Amino acid sequence: MLEIRQAVRTTAGQVLCSDELSKDETEAAAGTLCANPAPGNLHVVRCGSCRDTRTLFRDENDGPFRLTALGWRCETCSTAAASQEVRF
Ligand SMILES: [Zn+2]
Repeated sequence: MLEIRQAVRTTAGQVLCSDELSKDETEAAAGTLCANPAPGNLHVVRCGSCRDTRTLFRDENDGPFRLTALGWRCETCSTAAASQEVRF
């Protein structure tokens, strides 16, 4: 399960961070994601104060971000973090 998560995260990161991927490469990456149904969807979590960003599954905590009933919270800044679901 962890390996799948990592593969999905890596692939999503490549798609999100590179404007240079060709259409074919983007489609291949999306295919990888479809072929590996992840446990929930990935979210890009971003703190508006310290600009820290993580790509997290819906049940993960990482970096300064802690998941609450209302979404992620940046513990460094004590503010709610913005999160956006990753879609392809
Ligand atoms: Zn912060």
